[in-house]
Amino acid sequence: MDRKIYLDHNATTPVHPEVLEAMLPFYKEGFGNASSIHSFGREAKVALEESREKVAKLLNTDPLEIYFTSGGTESDNLAVKGIAWANRKKGNHIITSKIEHHAVLESCKYLEREGFEVTYLPVDRYGLVAPDELKKNIRKETILVSIMHANNEVGTIEPIEELSKIAKENGVYFHTDAVQSTGKIKIDVNSLGVDLLSLSAHKFYGPKGAGAIYITRGVRLTPLAHGGHHEKARRAGTENVPGIVGLAKALEIANRDMEKEDRRLKNLSERFFERIKEQISDVYLNGHPELRIPNTLNLSFKGVEGESIILSLDLKGIAVASGSACTSGTLEPSHVLSAMGVPPDLAQSSLRFSFGRSNTFDDIDYVVEVLPEIVSRLRAMSPIYQKEKA
Ligand code: PLP
Repeated sequence: MDRKIYLDHNATTPVHPEVLEAMLPFYKEGFGNASSIHSFGREAKVALEESREKVAKLLNTDPLEIYFTSGGTESDNLAVKGIAWANRKKGNHIITSKIEHHAVLESCKYLEREGFEVTYLPVDRYGLVAPDELKKNIRKETILVSIMHANNEVGTIEPIEELSKIAKENGVYFHTDAVQSTGKIKIDVNSLGVDLLSLSAHKFYGPKGAGAIYITRGVRLTPLAHGGHHEKARRAGTENVPGIVGLAKALEIANRDMEKEDRRLKNLSERFFERIKEQISDVYLNGHPELRIPNTLNLSFKGVEGESIILSLDLKGIAVASGSACTSGTLEPSHVLSAMGVPPDLAQSSLRFSFGRSNTFDDIDYVVEVLPEIVSRLRAMSPIYQKEKA
């Protein structure tokens, strides 16, 4: 059995061949350091600035507001800690949600140890943050609101426009982690109304270790790393030119193909869910039925451990995730599902299917062929499930 089906595109994606092609010259003859003043350096600098212009245009902003980083984790850390440190005199209160990625949550926990106060907003059963909750929790000491655009585990899309408006009305900076939405749905920083936005290339067929952050002009922010004056002194360190070129190319391709690919992925995941429901009983959808990025489907299979299904599917060449990749391997139920009020047993039995470019309707049919047998075998071994069904 050589068939390999990858259904874990929210963890990472393969580099698109056109992206790799765009990057390669900058590992070879175009290897210069963008800070050098000779021709090698100038060539790298041109590529760097052209990439910045491309990214800015695709996000509907100005190149002066785009800063390259090593990925989503760094961008999130820079946004949360950078704003907190630079605005300490103004206030010590930050608002985020319970379902953020650990890059935001752990940055907030770190700041709490430094004396900042953090409010973790609840979400409803679909994973949505209520604008009224935000309104209620803003105080005069609040300096930052950080709410993600799309959730990595369940795909729910937050009402960022409404939330950022509330922050703006109160003179509070608004950051969004758009790592899972960038490349999947249209991102326009102006219509989102955000002050800061994080993205990461490897989630949209770009290279790993390349990311960016949009920071609107005039935002006060302390850098994480000190050294050279790279990235307008906000992010010291020699720029990863091949990675940045790859990021810009990947974003361009994602935008070029978005409409068609979104429709295809939506059809693929809908057909998959329909067929799974026909074949397997006691399956529940986690996340919003409509306000969801089109490639993500998080399902709970009552009575079985998600991890056991993953291992059985892996033996058949099928790759899926339980919760987020970062929390797999721990026995704790996902913090996202817990915050949504999913009972612990159903949270433990959840699987995340995240579809992508390589997936075909044939792949889906194959998974639907093997999954029911795996679930019923595992359920037959579960005394609790058997007792409930008796
Ligand atoms: N934020 C979200 C929502 C993510 O899904 C991820 C990656 O899983 C990150 C941040 C971290 O991004 P990176 O892997 O580029 O550090």
